[in-house]
Amino acid sequence: MADPWYANGIRFKCTQCGVCCHAKGELAYVYVNQEERRRIAGALEKTLEEFASEYIAMDGRFYLLKFKDGKCIFLNEDNSCRVQEVKPTQCLTFPFHHDFMQDEESYEKYVRSYCPGSKDETAPLHDLKEISEQSNENAVAKFIHLSETEEFPV
Ligand code: SF4
Ligand code: SF4
Repeated sequence: MADPWYANGIRFKCTQCGVCCHAKGELAYVYVNQEERRRIAGALEKTLEEFASEYIAMDGRFYLLKFKDGKCIFLNEDNSCRVQEVKPTQCLTFPFHHDFMQDEESYEKYVRSYCPGSKDETAPLHDLKEISEQSNENAVAKFIHLSETEEFPV
């Protein structure tokens, strides 16, 4: 099998600009699967019902973090994340999302077009193994989320 386009690694270092935590049209979605909902609710010392009521928006049968004033409800004024230690896999694995890594055009469109950390030529180089692991982790979390049904009410 041919090497992926990122076989030589990708430079990236988050500048904490907060842009990726703001709504961007079709990308205004942070999905949270059941395990993630439980993890964040626990860290906030909320019951699952309280957590869902305060922080979750539904998209059909899917669970998303609420956005308020165009930004994720957990984004602090200084662009730090209120749930940094327990944030969803979608956030943890950014920008090496399975969908974005399919080809360089996707990475340009969904990451480099707005993320300054992905354009820094001096940023640390992330190697193929690390990128692949994060991409796979992202894909698994998304698969779990898509597999959830109404049997998992909160
Ligand atoms: S857009 Fe990029 S640099 Fe800005 S907070 Fe998100 S990951 Fe970090
Ligand atoms: S959970 Fe944290 S990292 Fe993820 S979008 Fe919200 S503020 Fe950003």
